[in-house]
Amino acid sequence: MTYKTLSAPLEAGEVALVGAGPGDPDLLTQAAVKLLADCDVIVHDALVPESILSLGASNAERIYAGKRGGRPSAAQQDISNTLVQLAKENRRIVRLKGGDPFVFGRGGEEARALVEAGIKFRVIPGITSGVAAPAMAGIPVTDRTVNSSIAFLTGHELSDESRIDWPALVSAFPVLVFYMAARVLPDLATRLMDAGLTAEMPVAVIHNASLLDETVATGSLQQAKAGTLEAISPSIVIIGEVVNERTPWKDD
Ligand code: SAH
Repeated sequence: MTYKTLSAPLEAGEVALVGAGPGDPDLLTQAAVKLLADCDVIVHDALVPESILSLGASNAERIYAGKRGGRPSAAQQDISNTLVQLAKENRRIVRLKGGDPFVFGRGGEEARALVEAGIKFRVIPGITSGVAAPAMAGIPVTDRTVNSSIAFLTGHELSDESRIDWPALVSAFPVLVFYMAARVLPDLATRLMDAGLTAEMPVAVIHNASLLDETVATGSLQQAKAGTLEAISPSIVIIGEVVNERTPWKDD
């Protein structure tokens, strides 16, 4: 392995799968900033804001590989093919994904496609929104008095054939952090109450965490079920008593 450092300049034909964090450029890693500033192509998702894209090399081509929740996943193959094609053209590619590339981001699929095509790549972790959003809202995802474990899940489990044993989930994990759940929040709350959580269980919905228009809404599972808790996509939904341990440190 010729691995040097994460931020070593990309070689011709190399891909970096880079986590962009939750949105504020201040939450990028140094490796992300350096690689963005010195690459030929940036292939990015919908959730990466312009304030981060603008840190890219001024002559770098930008390719939008937009996929937002709910769309058919057929496009994933196209994105992987695009990365392989660009690498074969000997370009230096930053594949920029919101949060962490390997957390609900299909980074694993892209990495496998690159391995299969014999393309050199590296992975730059990013701060995942499931951890950043609660911190921005002042909610400790673990609190000694409440929990010693967290479950990270996707709201898509509701619509697809669910692989989740809901009663087992709620009895095993005191804190649940959901990605991609804003649009299905009432259904999710219903499912969790059916599985045994109380109507009073606190819920927080954090929208656009770390961006200028970040909002935090808190309430109960009952309110979430009734649809009275505001939930706009993209949001992180946190369910558990840790929400009561919140120490807001800036305006909502
Ligand atoms: N790889 C990403 C997740 C991609 S899935 C990560 O590690 O964060 C997309 C989901 O991420 C959204 O539906 C939303 O639930 C969440 N998300 C991403 N950025 C967010 C932000 N700034 N604020 C709140 N939720 C966010």
